[in-house]
Amino acid sequence: MNDILLLKQGEIVLKGLNRRIFEDKLVSNVKRRLAHVGSFRVYASQSTVYVEPVDDSADMDAAFEAAKQIFGFVVVVRAAACEKDPEAIFETARTYLAEDFAKARSFKVESKRSDKSFPMTSIDVSREVGGLLSDAFPDVPVDLHHPDLVVNVEIRESAAYVHSVPELGAGGMPVGSCGSAVSMLSGGIDSPVSTWMAAKRGVHIIPVHFFSFPYTSQLAKDKVVELARLLAPWCGRMTLEVVPFTHIQEEIRDKCPEEYFTIIMRRFMTRICERIATDNSCGAIITGESLGQVASQTMQAMAVTQEPVKTPILRPLVCMDKRDIIEIARKIGTFETSILPYEDCCTVFTPRHPRTRPRLSDVVEAERPLDIPALCDEALANIERIPIRY
Ligand code: ATP
Ligand code: MG
Repeated sequence: MNDILLLKQGEIVLKGLNRRIFEDKLVSNVKRRLAHVGSFRVYASQSTVYVEPVDDSADMDAAFEAAKQIFGFVVVVRAAACEKDPEAIFETARTYLAEDFAKARSFKVESKRSDKSFPMTSIDVSREVGGLLSDAFPDVPVDLHHPDLVVNVEIRESAAYVHSVPELGAGGMPVGSCGSAVSMLSGGIDSPVSTWMAAKRGVHIIPVHFFSFPYTSQLAKDKVVELARLLAPWCGRMTLEVVPFTHIQEEIRDKCPEEYFTIIMRRFMTRICERIATDNSCGAIITGESLGQVASQTMQAMAVTQEPVKTPILRPLVCMDKRDIIEIARKIGTFETSILPYEDCCTVFTPRHPRTRPRLSDVVEAERPLDIPALCDEALANIERIPIRY
């Protein structure tokens, strides 16, 4: 069977002159994501990316599943290709959709013709193929209004394609088409979702995790690695940067007033992320912060967190409720891992009464005893880099 995937482009169709750049990105993303399930010919034409297996060893089921996680497509279909001729289309539908016909109580044929030089209109194609199918499956009547099974026929430049139900694609923009950003990844529910949302808008992600061994355990780190691995089918290959954070946290604990522990710690995270962002030509820092969720996520606290750096901090979840964040976490498959009960560095040395409306001048005063540049340099010099594959 001439099995093929048709991946229909979303927003990039609107890109005008830049469209080729987006399309090339999309094609290279598809090639890279599918390389481990077989050899495919991947090319773009007529707002669609075509994926054709090169030989029988290609795993089309796996390729179809993988394609649903590639940002940039609104619709994904698995189809059979055949000659542009009603007889051939009928034969293909009869065999390719045999199982669907066995279950269906009624059907109709819906045709689209993007090859305008094809001599028949789409209505003629539907009528002729529908007639032949109706003879072949006499128990399945035609129902033009509420059919059980829709046989889709697309007449395109190089061939005709037959398929049943199209599925929703992942949407968004091709990863890498909107630059790169550092994404702060904790082991919680929120940051995998914010990372996913940024990737969906075409951002190549450099995940960064702050790790406070032995206050946080190896298991806590493994959990973050697993979260990054679960995100990789969406975000593409990544390198997780694990920043040793213990010394910084101990210094804060020993030298700063308790009520400012968390906000000072978060300012360190921001500074270090900016350095990683600069080294990797990133345009932004992504976090999973959501307005009012905890003391460090009030407007005042977020302003104090942003203050040490010029790199924009993007917060995809800033106005989302926890319930809605959880719904996405479930959908993208990170929720079950996120709720495993391991501690995060944010829960080490948490103040009993954190300041919810910190004043910048007070925080700057509170961090004066620390050698900030030296502590940042030390952490940056000891980063562990973990390649994340799918
Ligand atoms: P999450 O559910 O993602 O852990 P949270 O609601 O628990 O978020 P905080 O712990 O205050 O919130 O963290 C806010 C954001 O700061 C996180 O969403 C994440 O982007 C970042 N962050 C927190 N802890 C870490 C960490 N150990 N390493 C990297 N980023 C972190
Ligand atoms: Mg957290």
